[in-house]
Amino acid sequence: MTRALLGCIADDFTGATDLANNLVRAGMRVVQAMGVPTAPLDAEADAIVVALKSRTIPKDEAIAQSLAALQWLKAQGAEQIYFKYCSTFDSTAEGNIGPVTDALMQALGTDFTIATPAFPDNKRTVFKGYLFVGDVLLNESGMQNHPLTPMTDPNLVRVLQAQTASRVGLIDHGVVAQGEAAIRARIDQLKAEGVRMAVVDAVSNADLLRLGPALKGMPLVTAGSGVAIGLPGNFGVAPSNEAARLPAAQGLQAIVSGSCSVATNQQVMDFIKAGKPALAIDPLRIAAGVDVAAEALAWAEGHMGQGPVLVYSTAEPSAVRAIQGKLGSEKAGAMVEDTIAAIARGLVQRGVRQLIVAGGETSGACVQALGITQMRIGAQIDPGVPWCHAVAPDAKDGLHITLKSGNFGSTDFFTKAFAQLLA
Ligand code: ADP
Repeated sequence: MTRALLGCIADDFTGATDLANNLVRAGMRVVQAMGVPTAPLDAEADAIVVALKSRTIPKDEAIAQSLAALQWLKAQGAEQIYFKYCSTFDSTAEGNIGPVTDALMQALGTDFTIATPAFPDNKRTVFKGYLFVGDVLLNESGMQNHPLTPMTDPNLVRVLQAQTASRVGLIDHGVVAQGEAAIRARIDQLKAEGVRMAVVDAVSNADLLRLGPALKGMPLVTAGSGVAIGLPGNFGVAPSNEAARLPAAQGLQAIVSGSCSVATNQQVMDFIKAGKPALAIDPLRIAAGVDVAAEALAWAEGHMGQGPVLVYSTAEPSAVRAIQGKLGSEKAGAMVEDTIAAIARGLVQRGVRQLIVAGGETSGACVQALGITQMRIGAQIDPGVPWCHAVAPDAKDGLHITLKSGNFGSTDFFTKAFAQLLA
């Protein structure tokens, strides 16, 4: 295999795919690994994204996992390391963005890195170090109420400084607007002042593309997925359709959905309204001990072959609350995830080779049940959601899979995604 140029460590699963998607669009061939692989990468790739689930775990564990990922990525030849976090800088007072960054810097022997979650395509912009989500500051965006990572301060210099003993500075928009030379000069100035991490302003893709060349040769970059659009050029890689090329699609088509988000509810309705075969699964029957997965697979066998089938637990908020009231939200969630994952596996065993999974947690459960350890990233279906290709124990010939997190995708996603694959 060729050496990977860019090695990425993502602190959550769907965030990893989001980053991979941006790199593919910028021309890199990308493979995403679930967790730190135990063997060398067995594929050609310009960038590798190791997906961890380290955003809210204890910081020592997050550091240990991130360092293991770093070591593996270096062994694959990665010349630059990209630590990817959420575009809303999701972290707790403990971290883990600051502590993981410090640990990676130490392991790489480097004394300077940048930090910016700016992702203008998704309306995340940074100005004077303050993070905006759409038209409002981070702490007015709803993120102040997040159950795990409430973000109550929009000033990222302060937020990051609270997580690290390293000095944190700012490369502000006036500098970024002037381009590479000015950014490099500002980095030199900050380094001379003892600053080790600099938050970088960016309010447009043009800013990110101006930032990119100034990051050439920097051993560690930390960012959301936005900065990725400006990096491939540093390695002589230009956008091309080749990067997104996957093997030809084959086999049966299916959708499993455990997402109850607004967009997914609309997507399920759209599919049903079009008269396509869909089966709802009832969490109460799972709780009563009925083998709902076996029932669903028997139903699917009778409907597959003429186009996609949909098996879903997707429900409106009132119905979800009623189920959660009866079963408890954690128990309901786990039971439904296990059932949908068993259905996904059964579908693949019955010849499905084009599979849509809707729901972030649901995706994690399905990928695990399918035994998928790495995926090649293909073309984007909708922002943040690409088709992927993976080999699995039940699909040694490979299958196409897309993992759609809750609120992503247009209303006709379940139809349009398959059409794109066959185009
Ligand atoms: P999203 O990406 O939309 O947040 P997730 O898959 O991450 O979707 O989360 C949805 C959660 O809701 C999962 O734990 C899933 O098992 C659970 N769930 C799905 N359907 C139902 C339902 N009808 N009642 C209760 N919980 C459900």
